[in-house]
This record gives sequence, C-alpha cells and structure tokens, in this order.
Amino acid sequence: GQCANVCPVGSITEVYEYPEVKAAVQDKDKIVIVSTSPSVRVALGEEFGMPKGAFVQGKMVALLRALGVDYVLDTNFAADLTIVEEASELLARIKGETDKPLPQFTSCCPAWVKFAETYYPELLPHVSTAKSPIGMQGPTIKTYFAQKMGIDPRKIVNVALTPCTAKKFEIRREEMNAAGQKLGIAELRDMDNVITTRELALWAKEAGIDFTSLEDSDFDKFMGEASGAGVIFGNTGGVMEAALRTAYAYLTGEQPPKEILKLEPVRGYDGLREASVEIAGRVINVAVVHGTENVRKLIAGGIEKYHFIEVMTCPGGCIGGGGQPKDFAYDADAARKARIEGLYERDAEMELHLSHENKEIQQLYQEFYDTPLSDMAEAMLHTAYQDRSADLTKGAKKKMMKWKCLI
Ligand code: SF4
Repeated sequence: GQCANVCPVGSITEVYEYPEVKAAVQDKDKIVIVSTSPSVRVALGEEFGMPKGAFVQGKMVALLRALGVDYVLDTNFAADLTIVEEASELLARIKGETDKPLPQFTSCCPAWVKFAETYYPELLPHVSTAKSPIGMQGPTIKTYFAQKMGIDPRKIVNVALTPCTAKKFEIRREEMNAAGQKLGIAELRDMDNVITTRELALWAKEAGIDFTSLEDSDFDKFMGEASGAGVIFGNTGGVMEAALRTAYAYLTGEQPPKEILKLEPVRGYDGLREASVEIAGRVINVAVVHGTENVRKLIAGGIEKYHFIEVMTCPGGCIGGGGQPKDFAYDADAARKARIEGLYERDAEMELHLSHENKEIQQLYQEFYDTPLSDMAEAMLHTAYQDRSADLTKGAKKKMMKWKCLI
C-alpha cells in the first residue's frame, strides 16, 4: 500500500507544500485564499482524536483563520459550478447538440484523467471537458472574486485544501492558467498550492493549536455557499447523483422526485454500481466505479450501453484520498464508510440540494459567465486532454497493475 503517500497514477510522491503557504501567510504583500474540498471536513477531526467521519467544518474554517489565512472559501461552491457545466455538457451529448460522443465520463479526478490519457487515449473524447471543482475555483477567484473584492490578482496565493495528492499534479498542468490568459498576466497560475488534510493537521500541530477546543467559524460570505449536491461530491457516486439532479431539472423543468434526490443504487461502496433512470421519457443508464481495477473491468465489459460514467480512483472516492488521515490500527473501510455517512447526513440536513439553485452560482452566471457552456465558460471552466500513452514504460505499467490502496 504505497498510495497513501504516492498518487495512484504517475508516481507523484506527496510533497509537503504547507511551509510555502505558511510563508505566504506571513508575507504582508500576499493575500492567501484557502478553498476547502468536501472530504476534508469529515476526516480532519481524526487527526485530533475525534470520531471517524465527524463533521468538523466549523472547526476546520476556524483553524485556517487561526493560522492566519485571509479568506476561507468552500470548494463545494465550485463543485456546484462543475455540476452545472457537466450536466449541461451531458445533456448536449444526449440531445446530439455536439460532436462529443456518449457515454460521458466524469473528469474531476486527476488520477483518473491521467490514467485515461496514459492507458485509454481513445476514450479521451468521452471525458467531460468540465474542469474539476478546484480547476474552476482557481480562475474564478483570480478574476471574478478579485474584481468584486478589489484585490490585485497578482497578490493572491490560491490554496486548495484537499484529500488528494494527485491534485498537486492537476494544478500544475500547463493549461491551468485560464485567469492569466484572460487578464494577460502570463505568470499567473489559477491555483498556486495544494495542501492535504494531513498537511493541515501537521501545520496546526506545529503551531500548537488545540483543534478540538476551537470555536466554529463560517466560510467567507462570497463564494462560500454550496448546495448539498456540492457536499456529496466527496463520495463515490456523489458526482453522478448531483449531476443527475440538475440534469433532471433541466430536462423536465421540474423538481427531481425523491428517488432521484436519493439515488440509492449509486450510493454505497461496491466497486461498480449501475442505475437506469427515466427522465422526460428518456432512459439514462449510468455507472459508478472506484479503483482503477474496476475501471479496467468496466471498459473491458463495453461502455456503449451507458450515458454517463463516474470514475474515482481512490477507494470510496475522495473521502479515501491519498492525503487523508490514515490510522493503520483501524479498519480503513470502516473509516471510509463513516466519512461517506458524514457527507450524506450533511446533504440531508441542508435545505438546498440542487447545484443550479445555489443563489451565488446563479449570480456568478448573471454577472460573469453568462450561461453554462457560454464562450466565456468554455474558455475558463473547460479544458482539453492529451494522449500520454507514449509515456508508458514497462515499469510504470507493472506498478499500475499492482496498485492497491491501504490507507
Ligand atoms: Fe484525488 Fe482520489 Fe479524489 Fe481522485 S478519487 S480526486 S485521486 S482523492
């Protein structure tokens, strides 16, 4: 089990970046903005002796404030944005309004994207061009948010707090500089640093902060609001469920019924789960997989029957990411299941379950991106992939086949 410290694809060893972020916090000329991924808030508490799956959003935000970051935003906000773009893209494929083929694969897991680029380049036209939530949050902060708040984007240090070591690779992909291109500032990166759940815990311990006694704090008001659909992004099956809720509403003009709002067949922990849903007279077949071995099996079995396939590389999805706490004395599957429960419970508690009904997202389109898949949205929120099959060496292939995760 090497994947706790190493990305499942491309041997990306976890490099600690939090000292760099710490230095930026101390630099008066820099404005440090941390955006937090959904799964961190159901795992961070474990590093401080709290129960597995405990929902510690308020303390997580308070900790970041205590460490001196300037703004704390929620990547769940951008998860809603990803859902709106990805569901719109799916509908365009289903209605034949684009040359892009069916089925559509999700694209928010960079380890899966790199896996497809390396092992299945022929499938790349099937991979959604929508960037991941972090990939959308970055350029939106350096353009829209910076403009609203009157901040010089050159001063912003954009940090993603994630469960994921592979995100360190994703933010450094050459093309992740949409804000720089728009603003004509060549050196501007959309996201500057990724720190993991474990890195944040290390930083807090070094700073001598008693996490468990922190008073809850809330995200900054602007770009801090999310729907329950954004919350469940952290679970295997969550992206699929969130996207179908919005696709249903777009296709029918009606609120999704209970069985779509709680899409039981795609919940759970099995390596491959399938569902067929009828929306406005169309049957839509979906599949959810986690783990690369399951992806290989799914592809070998034929993908033609599906419309939409969600792939996450880590067991259980991002809640089981390589940057999450690991306690070898504990049953890892039980920890992952507790974290999954934590996110579904949070979704159930929230009033808003549909990404496109998030008022801040609606405002963002009105003021900035216009409509989903608009030229501006395509330029800032969508991306392209490259065939990396030439990188494939025998050694890499062997390593991939052996990959197993034991966090
Ligand atoms: Fe990262 Fe794992 Fe989530 Fe993929 S499934 S985005 S590798 S944490």
